[in-house]
Amino acid sequence: MTFRATILTLYPEMFPGHLSTSLAGKAAARGEWSVEAVQIRDFAEDRHRTVDDTPAGGGAGMVLKPDILAKAIDSVAAKDKGDNRPRLLMSPRGKPLTQARVRELAAGEGVVIVCGRFEGVDQRVIDGRELEEVSIGDYILSGGEPAALILLDAVVRILPGVMGNVLSGTHESFETGMLEHPHYTRPQVFEGQEIPAVLTSGNHAAIEKWRQEQARKLTKERRPDLLD
Ligand code: SAH
Repeated sequence: MTFRATILTLYPEMFPGHLSTSLAGKAAARGEWSVEAVQIRDFAEDRHRTVDDTPAGGGAGMVLKPDILAKAIDSVAAKDKGDNRPRLLMSPRGKPLTQARVRELAAGEGVVIVCGRFEGVDQRVIDGRELEEVSIGDYILSGGEPAALILLDAVVRILPGVMGNVLSGTHESFETGMLEHPHYTRPQVFEGQEIPAVLTSGNHAAIEKWRQEQARKLTKERRPDLLD
């Protein structure tokens, strides 16, 4: 099954971006996933192809118009035409993206992602098209495109077959509810620092125990919220 992403954006040239490279790019070339970027402006009808307007109630900036955006959404992801992919809106007001949500999305048939610009989008299209607002963190980007690329990166890398053996999976940060243990590789001594002896001992039980202890210690220091 091909995982299909459709992105609604004013900057379609930003896709597939970095996802055309590396393992994600190879997986797309094999047809394991696809991304299509749709220009919202193509759905504007006036001579100037206007997509935004001033905020009701006044204030700075512009707001994406609901009529244009709704038309764009309906053209690519009409529920009545059997398209049941989740419809996301990248938004700093959204629920913070987690690895658990990434896993759910990767298990589905794809996503439709609306990228906001300016001050954001008219609330009525969020409500009317049941857009799920998703945030990638507590900071403000100039547009939803980099956020969409980040979400897609996280989803695509765990699609079956995309990373093959490269993905160890089980130990990774957040998969276990903890941050991952530190990593080492050769040379045995680097700038006077040795690889922890346990890791070269060949004792797999001891290595596993050390990794778990390190993971717990790091998580406690840096992200105690994950342990709650
Ligand atoms: N006025 C808005 C910010 C608009 S930023 C506010 O204060 O909430 C413009 C667009 O960038 C948003 O519509 C959204 O699509 C995207 N964006 C900005 N920060 C983001 C974040 N942390 N996560 C996801 N999308 C974000």
